[in-house]
Amino acid sequence: MRPIQAVRGIQDLPLEQLRGAGVVGFILDLDNTLVPPGSDEVPGETRRFLADLRRLGLLSVIVSNARSERADRMGQALGLPVVSRARKPFGRGYRRALGLMRLPAAKVVAVGDQLLTDGAGAWRQGIPLYLVDPLSHREAFLPRLARPFDRVLRRLLFGRREV
Ligand SMILES: [Mg+2]
Repeated sequence: MRPIQAVRGIQDLPLEQLRGAGVVGFILDLDNTLVPPGSDEVPGETRRFLADLRRLGLLSVIVSNARSERADRMGQALGLPVVSRARKPFGRGYRRALGLMRLPAAKVVAVGDQLLTDGAGAWRQGIPLYLVDPLSHREAFLPRLARPFDRVLRRLLFGRREV
């Protein structure tokens, strides 16, 4: 599996194919991957995606840099365990998520919208990343600050201009 692959969004993840390849766990970013940043609204695509994961018997954990109050609340709303204040790209959050699922990195993929946090973090753990387009362009200060660099990296890697 390539270390980083770009897809439009979570609805385009090849879940059955991944399961066939031995993937049983997903490390999911929260803001701009599952829900619009700072929003408590859960998009229909996200509900369908999480239902598909459950139907296929796949495990998942949210690993988010968001503060714990919000991340925990969203984890409850989505019915998923959460590692909040994960400080991606550092490794602690990924290791905790693997521990929660009791899985080795080789059986897990990560999903996120930012190369500098989700991409670099997963790379350091040897976990392949599915890079999604961000759900919304309204976001908090730090991710917004990082966004231009992220765009340049995306273009270098994938030649995509629309994000
Ligand atoms: Mg994000």
